[in-house]
This record gives sequence, structure tokens and C-alpha cells, in this order.
Amino acid sequence: MKYISTRGGMVPQSFSDVLLEGLAPDGGLAMPETLPDIRPHLSAWASLGYAELAAEVLGLFADDIPSADLRRLTAEAYREGVFSSAAIVPLKPLPGYAGGSLTLLGLSEGPTLAFKDMAMQFLGQVFEYVLGQRGQQINILGATSGDTGSAAEYALRGKRNVAVYMLSPHGLMSPFQRAQMYSLQDANIHNIAVHGMFDDCQDIVKQLAGDLDFRRRYQIGAVNSINWARIAAQVVYYIHGWLRANVAGGEVSFAVPSGNFGNILAGHIARSMGLPIRHLVLATNENNVLEEFFRIGIYRPRASAQTYVTSSPSMDISKASNFERFVYDLVGRDPERVRALWAQLAAEGQFDLSAEQSRFEREFGFVSGSSTHQDRLETIRAVHAASGVVIDPHTADAVKVAASHVEAGVPMLVLETALPAKFSATIVEAIGIEPARPAALAELEQLPQRVEVMDNDAQAVRRYIEAHAG
Ligand SMILES: *Cc1c(COP(=O)(O)O)cnc(C)c1O
Repeated sequence: MKYISTRGGMVPQSFSDVLLEGLAPDGGLAMPETLPDIRPHLSAWASLGYAELAAEVLGLFADDIPSADLRRLTAEAYREGVFSSAAIVPLKPLPGYAGGSLTLLGLSEGPTLAFKDMAMQFLGQVFEYVLGQRGQQINILGATSGDTGSAAEYALRGKRNVAVYMLSPHGLMSPFQRAQMYSLQDANIHNIAVHGMFDDCQDIVKQLAGDLDFRRRYQIGAVNSINWARIAAQVVYYIHGWLRANVAGGEVSFAVPSGNFGNILAGHIARSMGLPIRHLVLATNENNVLEEFFRIGIYRPRASAQTYVTSSPSMDISKASNFERFVYDLVGRDPERVRALWAQLAAEGQFDLSAEQSRFEREFGFVSGSSTHQDRLETIRAVHAASGVVIDPHTADAVKVAASHVEAGVPMLVLETALPAKFSATIVEAIGIEPARPAALAELEQLPQRVEVMDNDAQAVRRYIEAHAG
């Protein structure tokens, strides 16, 4: 499989090539040139464990990696010990709620209790593998407000040829999130707490990565959500969910708590490969840019000042970095059209595809909805009362929206993107109970922490990397 750019300006590249790049050289995003039809494989795949299924599916996307090697990488990434059970991704029914029509797809059983582990654990393995093959090293430079940074650090800790420099806003993450990241003692993990906001951290990353000389000399790379390997790894759990829903060839719908559009884009790719998906139900919180697009066809990202801080913070995103990949398919994979739309976005702050709105559901299966803080509290409360299950606020966004899109005879799988223990304040507010924490993390906040506190100054970060990258 070869990869091309949504803006049309990249010679076709292999999986391993796009793995190590961020944006394509023309500013677009990598997409497969063509997608294979997986329908002939589905019945044979039904008996596979998660790691074996991942090797089969990722083998379609990464056909430049020998399949025996890929099987080894997925067996390392998706095993009990890294994840809480041999199922890796359990299906958890919510009996009694919404007529018993909803089932959680448990994507948060990994080391950081959020779905980003699903892609990052594979990314950690395949990075080390490809760098080793090529005799290269990489210094990952990133900014995080919580989930992405910890998932990346747990996946890359102790990996050969990789170092991580992760910036976070000093004092602004939850004590749990801080302890998760700063308690890592691995020599290749560097936590840098910046006196500033998340946006300041992001600006420092942009400034340093934008310095081509520095970037080349120190082999600066990224693991952000536009990395194609993350999308490919996420396609696996849609297929796994469909197989486990056991619908004998019938359709399944998926409801997805959405921010950067990476998770649900993987659902779109799975559907494009022939997986029988009826609806992709896109759920947002009060930051409803994507919900609005799928409702009226106008894409209107908000300024930072109009991006709300909510109780599902990992979805507090105003600009969905993966959205361009869906628009590319929507406009018939016409890179000129994509370039024109993004030029218009830069000039006018929005673009209008309302003429195509009727195709969103009919051709692509997309429907959307949003929730408020009050909706999330009520949903957490109602699900707990009906089924005894405690869900996190992001999952609650999707449960609330999913409930209004249930159809008879079509199972609805709701993607559980975090465990409630990670967002305990909102759980306590909703049901007055502190959510259970996995036993291994009971004393997390008591572990010694290791973090470099720095001024909001790109040059200070640069000097730190120069001193440590050698
Ligand atoms: C990142 C994240 C999301 C949003 O996923 P996208 O791929 O950015 O749409 C939702 N919920 C949680 C808990 C997350 O960490």
C-alpha cells in the first residue's frame, strides 16, 4: 500500500516512510492510495485474538513490514500485562439503560486508562522496529494537556533509539495526570513543565519543529494525532467490535466521543474497507464544531477564546486536525478541491459544504449530536442507576448521543475512551462515589516524581534538548 497527500503534492510513500513524518511536504495529510476490501476476510478473522487480528489488519496498511515481524510487534503491543485482560478490548453491555440497546467497546484497559493507548502501544513497537532497521534515532517533541502525553510516554519508555521530550502546562493537569507522567523514571523520558498554558507549550513545539536546521540536526519527530500509523491501529478495534457483536454479516453502529476526529476517522476507513457499519455517530461536548458540520455542512473552527473548558476536557478542541482526511474522501479525493477549501478556511475562517449535506449519512453513515455538562451528569447517573456501570464523562457524551440514534436490530457500540478513575471529580459530582481505580495505580500520587520546570521560553527548551540529545 502506498500513501499520497490530501493536497496532491507527495510522491507515493510506504507505511514506514509516513510513520516517521508529520505533515506531508505539501502541508497535507497522508492517505492510502487505495483501500482493500476486507469482506472476504471477516469470517476467517472471527476466531482471532486481538493481537492476531491487529497483525492481519495492520498487514494490509504496512505491507512493507514482513508479516512475521508485524505479528511479533502486535503480540508485544497487545498483551495481558500491558492491558488489564487477555480480551484487550472487552465488550461491556449496559443492561437496563436505553432498553439495553447499548454496549461499551472497552478501549481504555491500557496503562494510562484512555483509548490513546490502543494506537500508542503499537506506535511504540513499530517506531523502535523501523528506527532499528534504518539505523536512525528520533527525538519525539510534543505538548500535552493530559491523555496524549502520558499514552506516548508509556508506549515509548525504555525504547531503543527513541527519546521523548514532552511539554505540559505547569500546575494545570490533574494530580492523577501529573503523577502518571512525572513518576516515570526511564532515562529516555523527559517531562518539561512550562510556566504557561497548553497553547504556550504547543507554540514552543511549533517554533522548534519549524526550525529546519534544528529539526534535522536533532532528528525531531512527533507522535500527534495526524500520524497515519495511529489511525491504522485504530481501524483494528472497529473490526474487532463488529466481529464480537456477532451479527452474522449484519450491520453495527458505533458512537464516538470526538475531538480531533482521529478516532472516528478510523471508523470511516473501516467502513470504506467494507466493514458493515450502519451509522458512525459523532458526539461532541459544548465544543461542537464537528457536530455542527455534520448537521448543516458548514465547517467553522472556533478561536481559542471561544473554546470552552468542559468536564470532558480531552474533547475541548476547536480545530479537528484529522478532518481534512474525511473531506478529501467527501470531495471525491480531489486534492485541488481540498487545497481550495483550506485556502478559503485560512482567508474566511470557514467553508461551506452544505450542498453535500445529504450525502454525509446516505453515503458515509455519519450522524452527529452534542451534550452539555448537565447531560453528562445525568447520563452518568442514569447509566449507573440502570446498569451499575460507572462511565467517564467523555464516554457519557457518546452514550447520550447514541441513545437517540438507536435502531431496532442494529447493535450500538459506544467507544469507551477513558475509565472513570481518570476523571473522578465529575464522577463524584454525578453520583457521589469515588470511582474504583485499578489496584496497580492505588499509590500513584505517592511515587517520586521527575520533572524539569521551565520558563515559557523556546530557547530554554532548545538548550535542554541540545544538552540531553548529545
Ligand atoms: C483524545 C480523546 C478523545 C477525542 O478523540 P479524537 O481522536 O481526538 O477525536 C475523546 N476522549 C478521550 C478520553 C480522549 O483522550
